[in-house]
Amino acid sequence: MKDAKVRLYVEHPLGIGQSVPLEREQAHYLFGVMRLAVGAQVALINGKDGEWRAEVVEAGKRGGRLLCAAQTKPLQMPPDLWLLFAPIKKARTDFIVEKATEMGAARILPVQTAYTNSERIRQDRLQAHAVEAAEQCGGTYVPEVAELQKLDRLLADWPEERKIMFCDEAEVGSAKRLGAAEGEKWAILIGPEGGFSPEERAKLHAHPQAHVVALGPRILRADTAAVAAMTIWQQALGDWQ
Ligand code: SAM
Repeated sequence: MKDAKVRLYVEHPLGIGQSVPLEREQAHYLFGVMRLAVGAQVALINGKDGEWRAEVVEAGKRGGRLLCAAQTKPLQMPPDLWLLFAPIKKARTDFIVEKATEMGAARILPVQTAYTNSERIRQDRLQAHAVEAAEQCGGTYVPEVAELQKLDRLLADWPEERKIMFCDEAEVGSAKRLGAAEGEKWAILIGPEGGFSPEERAKLHAHPQAHVVALGPRILRADTAAVAAMTIWQQALGDWQ
């Protein structure tokens, strides 16, 4: 039996002999765009049950059905890392969500800071980007993209055991590094184009869970900073070790 080339996320339990109905859009993608037919193999993920090889048993324009044959990967959870970032322009925000999923974030939390450019996000659209990224990167887990929330409120209620890698542009060029930091539960915090306000910076520097980090000698754009910070964290404490 050939390996499945197409990977698809479904909101349906996956297991041996499980029948998986397809929605109209999924049927259009598999049978209209990818030109699959009855008998074709598809790799299915649902973010919970690992990856399953499934066979197309019904193929129509408005729907279809797949049958799970065998598990091809177990569920692989990422490390317990949250990415907190202030939304920027649409395409760059999409990029951050896509890269955070590929690089192994467990949760993605858009936060509104004093200088955040946008007051609204389309959470459903960003979640769909995370799904697409998981399909594309071979992952079996899809991080939740939370609704936009105020950074102040999030910090006021911050879980005691979770550390914060606070990427502070004011430290550019300084020697502040993640270093020998320890702990399993972490969050990376990236600010908006305008950076953090003096009040936010003071609050974060005083926060007992915060580790202030400089990302080298140059100021990075927020999307670059998110990727750089995740790389540093994954290399030091995550599943790239
Ligand atoms: N407008 C700000 C300035 O000129 O100082 C720069 C903000 S930067 C475009 C967006 C975010 O990326 C910052 O809030 C910070 O979280 C992160 N960042 C960028 N470069 C950084 C650096 N060298 N060290 C630490 N954080 C950095």
